[in-house]
Amino acid sequence: MSHELQRTIIAQLKPYIPGKAIEEVKQELGLKEIIRLASNENPLGPSPKAVQAMQKALLESQLYPEATCRELREKLGGMYGIAPDQIMMGNGADNVITLIGTAYINPGDEVIYCIPTFPAYRTITLLMGGNPVEIPTARNYTYDLDTILAAITDKTKLIFICNPNNPTGTIVEEAQLKAFLRQVPPHVVVVLDEAYAEFINREGYRTGPDFVKAGYQVIFVRTFSKLYGLAGTRIGYAAASKELIAPVQAVREPFAANRIGHAGAVASLDDEEYRSKSLRTNKQEMKKLINEFQSFGYHVTPSHANFLFVDMKKDIIHITQALMKQGILIRPCTAWGLQTHARITVGTPEQNERLIHALQKINAGLFIT
Ligand SMILES: *Cc1c(COP(=O)(O)O)cnc(C)c1O
Repeated sequence: MSHELQRTIIAQLKPYIPGKAIEEVKQELGLKEIIRLASNENPLGPSPKAVQAMQKALLESQLYPEATCRELREKLGGMYGIAPDQIMMGNGADNVITLIGTAYINPGDEVIYCIPTFPAYRTITLLMGGNPVEIPTARNYTYDLDTILAAITDKTKLIFICNPNNPTGTIVEEAQLKAFLRQVPPHVVVVLDEAYAEFINREGYRTGPDFVKAGYQVIFVRTFSKLYGLAGTRIGYAAASKELIAPVQAVREPFAANRIGHAGAVASLDDEEYRSKSLRTNKQEMKKLINEFQSFGYHVTPSHANFLFVDMKKDIIHITQALMKQGILIRPCTAWGLQTHARITVGTPEQNERLIHALQKINAGLFIT
């Protein structure tokens, strides 16, 4: 019955398959300890300063949040050199992407992005009655800006560029992105999803804030879920010119971002030690994992994020399950139609050792599922 009552588009939405919850796997397999390398969380946990600030904020949980997250917007505005009222906080970047789509996509509008990529762009496009235009990534799994440009029509409204791209970890060349932005016609808004921007491993690489300040018609999206280790508190944001961000603010629910997340985010920005330790660990451990994976004969795509896109050249579901039985969760890329690829979050040194050891056992045929 409800099937007949729901909007027809709902049946076309693919359910998002999140990384298996640690609690679920513990119970299913009777394991005590689970290592989750499936959701690109910060393996070091949140910043101790953030934890302290959040504990304090907990005591004020009866109060609605300050609706606009002014303190955080002022801090971010100072960091980027843009005005606080060019920034909008939401309930995670996911929510922000939904709000951008809600504000901009008319029925029949075309929305272009590359695949494989973050699934939220497709979902909101369909929900708004828009038409997703999906372009395969270029050969090295980077967003194919030339083909996107060629796909623009009178009906195009939004272009999503996931940079670094999830699940491939690749970035577009800065010069190419700049040339691309110059050629995008005025009836099209470019959304730069920069959930992993802090991890970009290239000196001086320009990102969303630079392009907004240069006057391009872009909205950039960021989150505290990845580098800042606050995925559980759901806090992310979008920023653009005042004109571009205004319609997104208009569809935002008043208290989209919560008091606890806000307090944690503000404190995280002050914790330079945590930030540099997180980046340092990621860089060192990623190098180690790449070496080991290559010695196994896997193909590893160079990554500018906190995860690796790995072609293990064997049935990835089999490997994922064999790892799960050893208490390790990775993300198979089958939802993206890839049968031998996995997306693996870079963990702590200990977690990565365990992963490598478990893979050695599987590769040696010692672990049969
Ligand atoms: C994780 C992720 C998000 C969502 O982040 P939240 O703030 O946790 O909602 C958005 N875009 C990309 C590319 C991501 O990987």
